[in-house]
Amino acid sequence: QFPVPLPRETRVLAVSNQKGGVGKTTTTVNLAAALAKAGARVLVIDLDPQGNASTALGVEHTAETPSIYDVLIDGFALSDVVMPSPEFPNNLFCAPSTIHLAGAEIELVTQDRREHLLRTAVDSLLEEAAGQYHYVFIDCPPSLGLLTINAFVAAREVLIPIQCEYYALEGLSQLLSSIQLIGEHLNPGLRLSTILLTMFDGRTNLSNQVAEDVRTHFPDQVLHTVIPRTVRISEAPSFGQTVISYDPSSLGAVSYLEAAAEIAVWGRKFEQRQSTIR
Ligand code: ADP
Ligand code: MG
Repeated sequence: QFPVPLPRETRVLAVSNQKGGVGKTTTTVNLAAALAKAGARVLVIDLDPQGNASTALGVEHTAETPSIYDVLIDGFALSDVVMPSPEFPNNLFCAPSTIHLAGAEIELVTQDRREHLLRTAVDSLLEEAAGQYHYVFIDCPPSLGLLTINAFVAAREVLIPIQCEYYALEGLSQLLSSIQLIGEHLNPGLRLSTILLTMFDGRTNLSNQVAEDVRTHFPDQVLHTVIPRTVRISEAPSFGQTVISYDPSSLGAVSYLEAAAEIAVWGRKFEQRQSTIR
């Protein structure tokens, strides 16, 4: 396809935005599939009770399926619940979410180290399966509750998808201050590494204006690639597929492949800067 550098250490990214319907799940599964297609081994952790990422990756997530709920609440290991995605069974994996996760936000309140449960699980997985995964993407629910806090504590990076629509920037400052708080108190080293503009419609002034505003505010975080609004992207999940497999030559698939390549290249540059500093 195209050359994509693999990270030296596993990159763990929380895909978050407390607004619903902005493209978190679509971005998670398509970037994951794009990187898997390019040869990386990728795990998607579905942390949204809706289970849309599990559906899109074609992974079973009925109420009886061992899931991320069992990891957070019952102390299962992540390796007990991870399933291959039929799309790229050797490279793309998913820790599914089930309906039980809907209650977890409340159940977590009384747990010890409730903010660190996912971090502990991810760290043991990465230790036990050293070198197995190049990327872990965490698909967050549309809120800034304990599930999202768990994602921010487990992750090293946050990726924010921003929909090029009205009110795109509304609530963004709340999200940024949550990331900052977690970085100060629970997870030093957490950084907002990436912003991806989604559902872009170049024919409208609005989309162009939102894109320009976001680039002005976050010149170092916004990917050059923007994801257009396309029918192929929105219909892929109903076939239990990402657009990367559903229609590989479509504009949506090509855009996600390009965004994934950018993420890989930026990550490599960051690693190199860090090693020079050290
Ligand atoms: P979130 O996870 O933030 O709630 P989703 O990824 O589920 O958002 O996207 C919300 C809806 O928009 C879904 O129906 C999805 O298929 C659709 N969608 C997302 N991105 C695009 C796009 N680039 N073009 C067309 N439809 C999209
Ligand atoms: Mg979602």
